[in-house]
Amino acid sequence: MKLRALIFDVDGTLAETEEAHRQAFNETFAGWKLGWHWGRDLYRELLKTTGGKERISAFQESLPESSRLSPEEIARLHREKTARYNEILAEGGLALRPGVADLIAAARRAGLKIAVATTTNLPNVEALTQCCWGLPAGHIFDTIAAGDMVQAKKPAPDVFLLALRQLSLPPEACIAFEDSRPGLTSAKDAGLRVIVTPSAYTDGDDFTGASRVIPALTSQHLPPELRLL
Ligand SMILES: [Mg+2]
Repeated sequence: MKLRALIFDVDGTLAETEEAHRQAFNETFAGWKLGWHWGRDLYRELLKTTGGKERISAFQESLPESSRLSPEEIARLHREKTARYNEILAEGGLALRPGVADLIAAARRAGLKIAVATTTNLPNVEALTQCCWGLPAGHIFDTIAAGDMVQAKKPAPDVFLLALRQLSLPPEACIAFEDSRPGLTSAKDAGLRVIVTPSAYTDGDDFTGASRVIPALTSQHLPPELRLL
């Protein structure tokens, strides 16, 4: 079937966003005087839980009950963290991964649709496109399926299924781009072919089942059908 759309994960795939997320978490924790600090090794573990609020909850399970936050406090903390993340991006603290801008531009010239299927929320996607393209998300992506729009986050297939519904396309007409095991599982279970570019925090993941595992979306690594774009 003819290729009609590319569907991108955001965090780790379009840009190495996790270091900016980690910085935003830690600065928010410091503001709340929680005495929490997420180092790189701990954060690598915590990334196995997708979604910011869910990640804070998972971290809390290692703490004594008396020092845990309520669900309402977690929601407020997470809102502040999202705002801080946007400030970091507004300061220009993030770049696209190699090949991403060229691939998206070439796909658009070839008439393909460009979609996002992400566990992160819409404000984060907006902040990323403003930081990296200087444009609103709606100018870069035809459709955005975000974490807060679905019941079950990755590795459940819901967010990729939503993207396919928004595109009105079958999975056979699309390729998904991911950087992590939960993302790969999510896209595959939605019936998609998946190209994986491992990122700073996912390079040790098991990518069995991916169509391809390549270091970057630069033309020399892309499969022939994408190189022709
Ligand atoms: Mg990712």
